[in-house]
Amino acid sequence: MTSTDTFTAALRDLISANHILHHHGVVDAYGHVSIRHPADPDLYIMSGFLAPALVSSPADLITYHVSDSSPVDPNAGKGYSERFIHGELYKRFAGVNCVIHSHAEEVLPYVVTDVKLRPMYHMAGFLASHGNGDGVKVFDIDALYRDGEQRDMLVKNSRFGAALADMFATSDASTSGSGPRSETPDESVVLMRKHGFTVVGRDVVTAVYRAIYTRINAEVQTKAMATAGFQGLTSEQSKDCAVMNEEYQQKPWKLWVREVERLPLYENTLSETRNFA
Ligand SMILES: [Zn+2]
Repeated sequence: MTSTDTFTAALRDLISANHILHHHGVVDAYGHVSIRHPADPDLYIMSGFLAPALVSSPADLITYHVSDSSPVDPNAGKGYSERFIHGELYKRFAGVNCVIHSHAEEVLPYVVTDVKLRPMYHMAGFLASHGNGDGVKVFDIDALYRDGEQRDMLVKNSRFGAALADMFATSDASTSGSGPRSETPDESVVLMRKHGFTVVGRDVVTAVYRAIYTRINAEVQTKAMATAGFQGLTSEQSKDCAVMNEEYQQKPWKLWVREVERLPLYENTLSETRNFA
């Protein structure tokens, strides 16, 4: 595969990821997914200001600098105000190559109460938190606001994004946003108080898998608690299931890509099978 082919395939998968996340209820008109540029780690790519379901071609995508989340093309159209979530995670962790941010309603009970989201079943071992017992960490932006700043909960500058990125590292005890750069995050998912959640992965397949099963796991936990309380995975089961989760992600990815390629709502000009039907 040439570097051009690799780049085209990455954009195709990014467009498919937008559609998959919409089809599986992770994003609605809001929420977003990005990838690190496959040839330049100092850049990342995501849709412009568009609902994920409507992203259809490379013309809908904007490339940003990791350093400050400014667009490479100064004439680029309007982007997502929360792109700093993505830029600061790519800056903090060299091994993160895909970031997803969501407000999926199944997860919201766990950002507006003190009930911890925990890994419930074998598909969600990756939810085990390394830095905060066995509940998924919760980032609270409120303490970061300065006088006069609009408290709209959005991660719309580098300061907020860096503090969120810090939460993905076990060593973080503060929200200073000044943690050391490292290769791999300790957390795969961090919840965001009164807002939503953010997921990272080494590639788009892993991040999409985690985002979808975070939503499903939250739904399972809520139903279990409404029924009779729950018995989730033990710490050891979570750890081993997380290893297993890494090995089984290609299978659902192929299904999810095929699903959105065949649904008329979604258009992907880079799809290899788009003219199949
Ligand atoms: Zn958001």
